[in-house]
Amino acid sequence: MSDCKRKAIVVGSGIAGISAAIRLANKGFLVEVYESNSYPGGKLTVLQLGSYRFDAGPSLFTMPEYVNELFRISGRDPKDYFEYHTCKTACHYFFEDGTFLPFSSDKMMLLDQVGKTLNVDTRPLEKRFEKSAFIYEKTHYTFLESSLHQWKNYFRKEILKTIVAIPGLDIFTTMHKANESSLNHPKLVQIFDRYATYNGSDPYQAPGILNIIPHLEHGIGTYFPKHGMHSITTSLVRLAEELGVQFHYNSKVDEIVEDGRNVKGVKVNETFIPAEVVICNSDVKPAYNFLLKNVKAKKKTLQQEPSSSAMIFYWGIKKKFDQLDLHNIFFSSDYQTEFRHIFKNQTVCDDPTVYIHISSKYVAEDAPDSGENWFVMVNVPSNKGQDWELMRHEIRSKILSKLSRMIGEDIEALIDEEDYLDPIRIEKRTSSFAGALYGASSNDRMAAFFRHPNFSKVEGLYFVGGSVHPGGGIPLCLLSAKIATDLIN
Ligand SMILES: Cc1cc2nc3c(=O)[nH]c(=O)nc-3n(C[C@H](O)[C@H](O)[C@H](O)COP(=O)(O)OP(=O)(O)OC[C@H]3O[C@@H](n4cnc5c(N)ncnc54)[C@H](O)[C@@H]3O)c2cc1C
Repeated sequence: MSDCKRKAIVVGSGIAGISAAIRLANKGFLVEVYESNSYPGGKLTVLQLGSYRFDAGPSLFTMPEYVNELFRISGRDPKDYFEYHTCKTACHYFFEDGTFLPFSSDKMMLLDQVGKTLNVDTRPLEKRFEKSAFIYEKTHYTFLESSLHQWKNYFRKEILKTIVAIPGLDIFTTMHKANESSLNHPKLVQIFDRYATYNGSDPYQAPGILNIIPHLEHGIGTYFPKHGMHSITTSLVRLAEELGVQFHYNSKVDEIVEDGRNVKGVKVNETFIPAEVVICNSDVKPAYNFLLKNVKAKKKTLQQEPSSSAMIFYWGIKKKFDQLDLHNIFFSSDYQTEFRHIFKNQTVCDDPTVYIHISSKYVAEDAPDSGENWFVMVNVPSNKGQDWELMRHEIRSKILSKLSRMIGEDIEALIDEEDYLDPIRIEKRTSSFAGALYGASSNDRMAAFFRHPNFSKVEGLYFVGGSVHPGGGIPLCLLSAKIATDLIN
């Protein structure tokens, strides 16, 4: 029976590759996934340091419905594989002047907290959320859920909805200007500007339409998997294997074999493996530079500015901190300088914003009873040949002095276990160009149109993942797999 099936190969087992494999298996393909690493998941992986478990990459989980959908289309109940909590609080925000703002997921509670803490009228904040919901409602189909690169999509009624709404989408202003002109407190502006970092962009350059992002967190909700972020990978791999998908680890694809018109298969360790369909989950730049011999991508696509990268310290901390939650932000007192350093100077400022993610707040077994697993991150530029060894030491001391000052405790003395991730390691472990977290940045208003489409000039060759349309981050990667596989009959 399986001999009659058409064969599909997926290059890479990032979250988009795994979900493309599941969708193709559901379409009746015989699917094989070839992965360079000895493990699946790409950036969505795990790290164990002594008795502390860390989700090594993504920590913020929005739009779980896109994960659930993969179980449903496979005739499974998602709850048998993957469960998650709804987070009561989106984030704890800390400012240098001592202001503490827990951003509740409950809108009424949040407005009350903000009104009391900042002593402001909260109607502008309410309106900002409404605006974010408006942008989502008018654009999500056009920009996120369908291909921007197929003419036929421009004749659908949803596009008309987007076009009519253009004057209200803030396309011609920046995120920061839109936030500054509508919110009535600089701390709220800073909190809303921060959403630009959710796809590795700069709020002082990125278009105001990116103010869609707060709606994902505060309109649709923020969630956390019961067994941590890595369980997204493990549960989907389990599903894929049940559907007959074969995973080959330690198997780097050296070439996607094509004749310029049709895809033929892939080459792994000098062996040619034929396939009718190849889905490339490798970053699009190395794919064109190293894997494809007869086709070129548009210059504009390959020249897009990379998104920001990250410097992360995984610290097993031998103490519990009640004032901290799952997601915590310790803001820089000069946000504009911070982004100028990242995107113009290609370095990190003296007072970077520090993000601490503590999964043990929700998953108790991730840390010993008396401790917490701190994932401590600052945004950094993509790799342009900076001295990362030196920068890592400098950033570590900046973080330690900022956290010790703002928390009022010698944090270094509490570090029980330690490891790190930097742009070099990210690139080495996932082939992401320059260690960028989200492919290209969205600083250019036309960025969405310049991203590589989910199909290619080569018949049978498709692209999925954070470096192609609709962009980086787990939900968009899952959508990229849906858009690509929907194009395959
Ligand atoms: C530190 C960090 C924090 C993040 N935080 C968040 C967050 O909070 N929320 C969120 O939604 N997103 C976040 N992201 C982004 C998110 O992780 C990514 O957008 C997403 O996981 C990318 O998935 P992908 O499918 O594009 O593949 P990747 O995860 O990039 O994996 C690609 C895979 O392909 C393999 N591969 C590449 N080339 C080949 C080849 N030639 N042969 C075989 N295999 C190959 C690689 O080894 C890798 O396993 C974060 C990312 C990082 C690194």
